[in-house]
Amino acid sequence: MNIFNFLFFPSLQRRKEYRKKSKGSYYDYSYYRDVIRADCKHRCIYCDAHENEIGGDEAMELDHFRPKSISAYNHLHNDPNNLVIGCRRCNNLKGNKWPAQESQESFVGDSGFIDPFQHPRHEFFRVSQNGELIPLKPPAKYLVDILELNRQSRRKLRELRLQHFDLIQQLEQKANDLKKVLENTPELSLEGKEEINQAINIFRAESIRIHENNIRFLL
Ligand SMILES: [Zn+2]
Repeated sequence: MNIFNFLFFPSLQRRKEYRKKSKGSYYDYSYYRDVIRADCKHRCIYCDAHENEIGGDEAMELDHFRPKSISAYNHLHNDPNNLVIGCRRCNNLKGNKWPAQESQESFVGDSGFIDPFQHPRHEFFRVSQNGELIPLKPPAKYLVDILELNRQSRRKLRELRLQHFDLIQQLEQKANDLKKVLENTPELSLEGKEEINQAINIFRAESIRIHENNIRFLL
């Protein structure tokens, strides 16, 4: 299984249509906060922090992907297709930066921003065992630098995801190993079987607990 599918930078898809007023124009952009949050899977599209990991919904901000301060994008002011969710820190660091200027693309050359609805982000980043983002191709390095994507809090958050994921796998492996012992040792006493079954149940329960508390909201 490719752990990128859910642990880091899941693929995102916008809903087909955002609600409009009866006359066909968009509502004020703030109206779309909850649907954009859902479309972004409740994660900052820049550093990948999930709102559950950083203090909930109030830690997240609606961001105009193409900045509203650039006159060429004035017309996108209320267009939900230009809205994304970012954590406060990333949104602040991004500010009005938009190196792609008026290009159709969101990045040009080495710099710019990756539209997560257009590009699978795992093509741009790898995650090392200690949670550090490793840029694979432009503009990943630009983003790591200007958005401080490897700041301590975010690196730690990714490291924790990996640690919990590993732990779950180890517990599952132990439970499976014991199940094999049961199957391959028919001469075991009733008490012996009982003890092994109890151990299997403990491993399974612990694995489920870790999953529920630390991973499930990422799915
Ligand atoms: Zn962020």
